[in-house]
Amino acid sequence: MVKIFIDPGHGGSDPGATGNGLQEKNITLQIAQRIRDMLTSEYENVSVKMSRTGDQTVSLNERTKAANDWNADFYLSIHINAGGGTGFESYVHPQSPQRTKNLQNTIHDEIMKQVDFRNRGKKQANFHVLRETVMDAMLTENGFIDNSADANKLKKSSFIDNLARGHVNGLAKSLNLKKKSSPPPQDPPKNNPGQLYKVQIGAFRDEENAKQLADRAKKAGFDVYIVKE
Ligand SMILES: [Zn+2]
Repeated sequence: MVKIFIDPGHGGSDPGATGNGLQEKNITLQIAQRIRDMLTSEYENVSVKMSRTGDQTVSLNERTKAANDWNADFYLSIHINAGGGTGFESYVHPQSPQRTKNLQNTIHDEIMKQVDFRNRGKKQANFHVLRETVMDAMLTENGFIDNSADANKLKKSSFIDNLARGHVNGLAKSLNLKKKSSPPPQDPPKNNPGQLYKVQIGAFRDEENAKQLADRAKKAGFDVYIVKE
């Protein structure tokens, strides 16, 4: 079982960054929920826990403690950027082992394949959620809420889907998640129109007897023919 802890940034009394009519806490929750739903419906042996599933206030300590106590294999924190910029960037802790940096590489690249955000690069920072987690941890900054072009993208449900899909593809690739097998294909339809079902109503040693029965059947309205075998 691969345990993935998803952390939608902010929430409750902490809206995070705001701009263009959007609040970071709402977008991060939308992305996180879609990632969770895709992972659990499409992949085998994956377990997902979230730091919050609604608009709750959760401290940074509570978030990392929940992931550590659960023994998560991977910690994914979702944020929206602000402060005058545009595009996508991701973070791991500067002291991360190479393994974590490889995960960041794969996940970052898969996200960039799915969305038309400017690629701001793979970065490192001493963030609480990256420092205090004992498992591999990564944080994504999904566009700038105070940039109107980025915000317009984040308002589209299809764009949120693509962002989630990029995260999911990256997680699946880097954590070797196995797709659930699709339901077995249906049997081909039994009544193949090219196939004939024949009804035989008699078999005779004497040809005359066969003709007599054929005549009776014709009179009754059936299409009849005699086959010699
Ligand atoms: Zn944030």
